[in-house]
Amino acid sequence: MEKYEEKYGEYPPAFITLSPTKVCNLRCKGCYAASEATSKDTLPYNLVEKILDDIRENWGVHFTVISGGEPFMYRSEGKTLLDIFDKYRDIFFLVYTNGTLIDRAIAKLLAEFGNVTPAISVEGFEKETDERRGKGVFKKILRAFDYLKEEGVPLGVSLTATRENAHLFMDDELYDYYFEEIGVTHMWIFQYMPIGRGYNPDLMVTPEQRVKMLKQWRKCMVEKKYFVADFWNSGVVASGCIAYGRDGGYLYIDWNGKIMPCVFVPFYVDTVYDIYSKGKTLTDAIQRPFFKRGREWQRKYGYCRYHKVKINNWFMPCSIRDHYENFVKNIHKGEAKPEDENAAQFIKDDEYFGKMVKYDDELEKLTDPLWEKFLKEGKLD
Ligand code: SF4
Repeated sequence: MEKYEEKYGEYPPAFITLSPTKVCNLRCKGCYAASEATSKDTLPYNLVEKILDDIRENWGVHFTVISGGEPFMYRSEGKTLLDIFDKYRDIFFLVYTNGTLIDRAIAKLLAEFGNVTPAISVEGFEKETDERRGKGVFKKILRAFDYLKEEGVPLGVSLTATRENAHLFMDDELYDYYFEEIGVTHMWIFQYMPIGRGYNPDLMVTPEQRVKMLKQWRKCMVEKKYFVADFWNSGVVASGCIAYGRDGGYLYIDWNGKIMPCVFVPFYVDTVYDIYSKGKTLTDAIQRPFFKRGREWQRKYGYCRYHKVKINNWFMPCSIRDHYENFVKNIHKGEAKPEDENAAQFIKDDEYFGKMVKYDDELEKLTDPLWEKFLKEGKLD
């Protein structure tokens, strides 16, 4: 890593998120990946190996997030996701999955490999989960929880918070249910990001809801000792935005091999096909101006390992959602290509731009004073 630092003046990313397939057996409302059962978008197995070899050898990475699509639907060259886990036993995998394909045999194998923890997607309790994901899905998830627990595999859940279900995240019941009754060890909350199928800025949690969730998140971590990560309220524990291949941060590669700064920044310059066919690596991909501009913004905003800089409000850390105008004008700059049709549309959409900027202004007014108080007194109330 020292050699990397000597050459580039910063440390390499700590992990990647890889979505090896867009194929999914469910069709959830508002899926950020716009996944479907018939999609052909899948990375060849030999390319997945190349990516994992690259990050392990060149960045010393031993942690990878797998997302999708539904990762357990991955099929290529006669291999599945289980072959990846088996081959790369020195990499720990966090797998975002809908959980419906995890049976006893898969749970047994995950226990044997010892390098995987699934985070199963739920939408709240049974009612909310079945409403968005399909009838009967929650019962299948409960079965998967049982298999995983009985075989000794650590498990987690992931949830999407929208304006409509935000109330669930504001009191103890949801957290107590999953941590105490189900026995999860980690929970990931993704506040709805208006990208992907049917993107809709009006579904984002409101700035007021976000502040209430922030207070509840802090209570879960500090008082209840639950491991809960709330994107974006947890920005403070990650020293702000971790995208753009930031040192200690990450980047995202999708089923078409597009190399993006983050799962929620659906724009790219290179694909893994481009770079590996030219004998290059992911290191070259993150030296592109689009990625560098993102890291430059992160440093100015407050992340700097080397020099003291003023730390701006990490209660609004997101480079795209919380600072949309800056993203469009100073990071994207009309240069990076959209990942899909949805991204091609929203980046040119004036109404979308107006709504995002208004949201950011309101969020700033609400959270700036809170941030100042937190810096001075270490508390929010
Ligand atoms: S761009 Fe936003 S979602 Fe992505 S890492 Fe940065 S803060 Fe998180």
